[in-house]
Amino acid sequence: MSDQIKSVRGMPAILPGEVKKWQFVEAVAKNVLHAYSYNEIRTPVVERSELFQRTIGENTDIVAKEMYTFIDRNDQSLSLRPEATAGIIRAGIDQGFFYNQTQKLWSIGPMYRYERPQKGRYRQFHQINMEAFGFPGPDIDFEMILLTGRIWKALNLSPLQLELNSLGSPESRKEYKRQLQDYFHDHQKELDEDSLRRLDRNPLRILDSKNPDLQEIIESAPKMVDFLDQESNEHFEELMAMLQDHAIEYSLNTRLVRGLDYYTRTVFEWTTDQLGAQATVCGGGRYDALVAELGGKPTSAIGCAIGLERLIELVDVSGQNEQNNPSKIYIVAVGSKAEGERFLLAEELRDAYPNLSIEMNLNGGHFKQQFKRADKAGADIALILGDDEISKQTVGVKPMRSEGHQETVDRKELLSIIDQFL
Ligand code: ATP
Ligand code: MG
Repeated sequence: MSDQIKSVRGMPAILPGEVKKWQFVEAVAKNVLHAYSYNEIRTPVVERSELFQRTIGENTDIVAKEMYTFIDRNDQSLSLRPEATAGIIRAGIDQGFFYNQTQKLWSIGPMYRYERPQKGRYRQFHQINMEAFGFPGPDIDFEMILLTGRIWKALNLSPLQLELNSLGSPESRKEYKRQLQDYFHDHQKELDEDSLRRLDRNPLRILDSKNPDLQEIIESAPKMVDFLDQESNEHFEELMAMLQDHAIEYSLNTRLVRGLDYYTRTVFEWTTDQLGAQATVCGGGRYDALVAELGGKPTSAIGCAIGLERLIELVDVSGQNEQNNPSKIYIVAVGSKAEGERFLLAEELRDAYPNLSIEMNLNGGHFKQQFKRADKAGADIALILGDDEISKQTVGVKPMRSEGHQETVDRKELLSIIDQFL
């Protein structure tokens, strides 16, 4: 026997039992997105590497060490997308659908990052993304928080925590970056290797460090909120006022910087205490400069991404699945005429009842074997075709989940009365 081929590390299959939960969560999220007037967009899984280098930033973890990058047969550098925003903006600029319009878009699909796989962290994972273009004010920020909050509620999750920060304008952030560099330079001896690496290029990411030894220095570091330009400050104040007016709880997290370079002003995360270290279920923020940076007209923008593996981990679907399963009919057929007839019957049933699950016995076998299979398949009723039924033009109907007896019905009437047995 030849060697078995293993899966790629960190890229598990989602098996049929688990997929039901995914479909449920996706359906709930799609309903909510439609309720907020978002339209679906589907972009490619592969883009030119340059797109991610320019948007996410060369000095971010994602671009510096997590991207799946390869050279194609035409000597082009391509990458599997590590996130969705860049591709959506690229498509929007290509197709000219940002200019002078507003757009609310959502998408769903796999993302790829070369990370150390662990619970809640994979190399292929899935996100639902939403992006709104052409809305400069904080009202869209607030609406996106309402939208995501509604998804948690619709899924009956125990409360998630909302964390907020503002990263200001690119100019005010530059000033803050300088102050932060000065501060951490003064504490250089106390920094760890990771933080030293970030000091020159991406000092904001030091704030993100989980190293317990650094917490005190980080706590006393200068805070972005104290460096906000006036407009960013007003934007942030207005957002917080809206949250307070609607009694939505949040906490100000001055260390929330997010992993991508492109954010401006509002950034937010929804976190949970139920998933251990991988606590962020959803993260996002504004990226008002990004569309222009990629060659489009200046366009305000905000977006966020929900990590589906983590979200699904939080969802309890007990009771839900049963409801969502369609009734199942299993056709038992013994004898060559009956075996021919089973396809006709199955197709007629599928025409008449597109919402039922119709399975027929394949692989032959006696009646007893076939009933066993019907039971294993979870059938609600079995329809029986044997020599007797064929010659009399009838069908046997046997309930599989209740004590009821097998009945014989006229083949011509079967379609119109089958409901009674389900
Ligand atoms: P983290 O700090 O956990 O690495 P991130 O800031 O890199 O997250 P984002 O780029 O903001 O993550 O992606 C949005 C969401 O996608 C995250 O909050 C998380 O739920 C999910 N996510 C990100 N990376 C992974 C991964 N490798 N495996 C599973 N889910 C992920
Ligand atoms: Mg990450």
